Amino acid sequence: MSKKSTICIIDDNPFDREIFRRYLLQDGEYEYHLFEEETGESGLERCYEVQPDCVLLDYHLPDINGLEFLSALIEHYDSVPFAVVMLAGMDDDAIAMKAMKKGAQDYLVKDEITAGSLYRSIHQAVERTRMLRTLERQRHNLEQKNEALQAFAYALAHDMRAPLRAINGFAQIILEDYISVLDPNVLHYVEHIVHAGQQMDQFIQDLLQYTRIEHRAPRCRTISLTETIERVLEELDVRIQETQAYLEIAPDFPSVYGDPTLLHQVFVNLLDNALTYTKPEAAPHVMCSWKKVQQYVQIDVVDEGIGIAEKHYEKIFHIFQRLHGEDEYPGTGIGLAIVKKAVEMMDGEVQVQSQAGRGSTFTLKLLVG
Ligand code: ADP
Repeated sequence: MSKKSTICIIDDNPFDREIFRRYLLQDGEYEYHLFEEETGESGLERCYEVQPDCVLLDYHLPDINGLEFLSALIEHYDSVPFAVVMLAGMDDDAIAMKAMKKGAQDYLVKDEITAGSLYRSIHQAVERTRMLRTLERQRHNLEQKNEALQAFAYALAHDMRAPLRAINGFAQIILEDYISVLDPNVLHYVEHIVHAGQQMDQFIQDLLQYTRIEHRAPRCRTISLTETIERVLEELDVRIQETQAYLEIAPDFPSVYGDPTLLHQVFVNLLDNALTYTKPEAAPHVMCSWKKVQQYVQIDVVDEGIGIAEKHYEKIFHIFQRLHGEDEYPGTGIGLAIVKKAVEMMDGEVQVQSQAGRGSTFTLKLLVG
């Protein structure tokens, strides 16, 4: 059984249309549903209506030319959504090139068209349109599934916090108000509940932050990095005091083009990690410097902590990937995934250079503001 396909022939010359129609009706491989139009305008209307697999388009139409026809399609659909085979004259090489650049699939010289050359061109065009449509459908499905999954993760994380707050709150009350009457074993168990509850709460907060980033379009503008880093240091002040960290922050950070919320999250996570992954008993030593490299401001966040083996460079930026157990170093494995996602949403880059046991350098490249 032959395959079916829809073709629009747009040509003001009735004899040419007649020839193409005859050729196509004799094609043994395809059974065509043919539409014919004489002008560009009526051709466009017909295309919008029937969504053909292929358009056979005469370049020289009475109202608009072939390039204008392609422009109208692009304006309507954002791209050329089906194959257009342009029919041009013998001396129209330059036009044909322009048409191909603009999205036409092929061009045929009108006076040289044979049944064979027409079939070859149309078969290729139809196959290509079908392949593109399948890909587009799959992309659309994936996008929808992804959106649904994100919404699910967000709702789950959001709704889980309320009961968790109750568990944590009541366990805390038991610890505070009944400590003198509790059996030591029970006390021990309740302490475990409180610890696990806090861990879970941190995990949910990080997950929420990650899904929020994915949900919201970045609002980029010129941002003072000096101010961003000052705010981040204020937020981390307690941690800095507790760990007795020694910080060397370069002066006069330049402006970058970025989203203030995303930038804040990037620096909180990088600096927090630098304060966390220290060698046992050693106070953190963290340096933050910058330089301009072409259109980027390059920022290095350097620590002298436990370092990362080269084989883990990629893995650590994936969500939920941790190199340590909770009892060694606390964490959720979401921080660097947030950093990577946020930096990419601002058209920047992030990478790590490190050696196990010798500290790490996280390098950011952000667009100059
Ligand atoms: P978390 O810190 O919550 O585990 P991250 O995504 O921030 O999650 O980091 C992923 C992993 O990368 C960490 O578990 C840790 O093993 C490693 N890592 C991140 N930053 C550093 C650092 N500055 N020094 C050494 N290891 C690090």
